[in-house]
Amino acid sequence: MNIDIHDIEEILARQEQWRQHQTINLIASENAQSEAVRRVQNSDFMGRYAEGHPNEPGKVNRYYQGTRYIDEIETLARNEILELFKARQADVRPISGNAANTAIALGYLRGGDTVVANSTDAGGHISHGPVGVIGRRIQNRGQALKLGGEKSVNLHYLPLTEDRYHVDAQKSIELIDRLSPQLVIMGKSLFLFPEPVREVAAFCRTKGIPLLYDGAHVLGLIAGGQFQDPLREGATWLTGSTHKTFPGPQRGVILGNLDEEGEKKFWPAADRGVFPGSSSNHHLNTLPALLVATREMKQFGHDYAAQIVRNAQALGRSLDALGTPVEARDFGYTKSHIIAVNVAQFGGGVEVAKRLEDNDIILNYNMLPGDEDPRNPSGLRLGVSEMTRYGMDEQAMGELAQLMHDAIHGKNVKDQVNQLRARYLEMHYA
Ligand SMILES: *Cc1c(COP(=O)(O)O)cnc(C)c1O
Repeated sequence: MNIDIHDIEEILARQEQWRQHQTINLIASENAQSEAVRRVQNSDFMGRYAEGHPNEPGKVNRYYQGTRYIDEIETLARNEILELFKARQADVRPISGNAANTAIALGYLRGGDTVVANSTDAGGHISHGPVGVIGRRIQNRGQALKLGGEKSVNLHYLPLTEDRYHVDAQKSIELIDRLSPQLVIMGKSLFLFPEPVREVAAFCRTKGIPLLYDGAHVLGLIAGGQFQDPLREGATWLTGSTHKTFPGPQRGVILGNLDEEGEKKFWPAADRGVFPGSSSNHHLNTLPALLVATREMKQFGHDYAAQIVRNAQALGRSLDALGTPVEARDFGYTKSHIIAVNVAQFGGGVEVAKRLEDNDIILNYNMLPGDEDPRNPSGLRLGVSEMTRYGMDEQAMGELAQLMHDAIHGKNVKDQVNQLRARYLEMHYA
């Protein structure tokens, strides 16, 4: 050992102390992993390759030798995730949610195709948008991507109801009927309420159009039975990240519940899209961790997800009652792990997010529906998955709301934030 790494280790220790012990983390796309999920990631698999599918008795599906143990892990991970989501098809190889969406884009879409999805300002993910993988995939070389207008264009946005936090099912069906797109995408990043998947998927089926449900954020809520179940509602593919509400390693997954005919028609696109499409080697050392998190969710997912939703609603109620306006009040603020707070009158999202970070409350600024300038967003996005995992309940959310309210109004509450956090250091639901 003659390489000096103590400075690197010191940075890691400071990160660990700050983010695992001092801060209250409300970043909706993040979570904290159990000791077991962390431990199994440090293994020999870190340096290995395994492309293709696990070998089977008498059948070679891999392109490398030496894979007998990752074959065991991958087979277990696939089978246990199928069971958890009551699915018929699963691909556990995408290395992130974006890679899972990329797989569908590469496997199913072609230049010039038409897609209907959520717009970015309505909460849609960048991968669905004009500069994301979906937009890039359907853009013809040398031609600008045509957005939304009347004349036969590629990328259209799902119409919203007047409150702008719900997709309008009837108008969506009319749009899909008129355009006959190759793909409809539902699901988003500022994801407060379920999407009308059942109605829209039923209509899509009459026209042979597949529906991709992007459950990156809500995968853990789906696993826990506390959000809509897109596979039961008729989605063709469910893509997700395994590290947001699903408290596993940073990876992705594609799930399906297709009958034999549907599987033949739509699953090869996902399979080829994953490999050789969006990944070759799939970061083997993190796959055992996905298996551990799957078992945690099988045992604790229902209780964990239910407490997440209760906490998000409680935080919304408490902040709103203190005079910090929370979006979607008429609908109980949220049915997920996320709430959206409007801080335009307190200096705007960028400034207020920084003020909160100075007090060890970590979150991200966010555009709200109707915002036009992404550099001057009026909102904050708050997610409670991680703090719920550390045991916070509705009453703790009330205390947190008061501290946030004080910090937003310029008070220094860093010590109180650290003290509140110090009461919630033990990992639950694992
Ligand atoms: C976070 C997110 C993704 C991307 O997931 P990564 O795992 O970060 O690659 C995809 N879709 C939606 C809706 C997301 O919110």
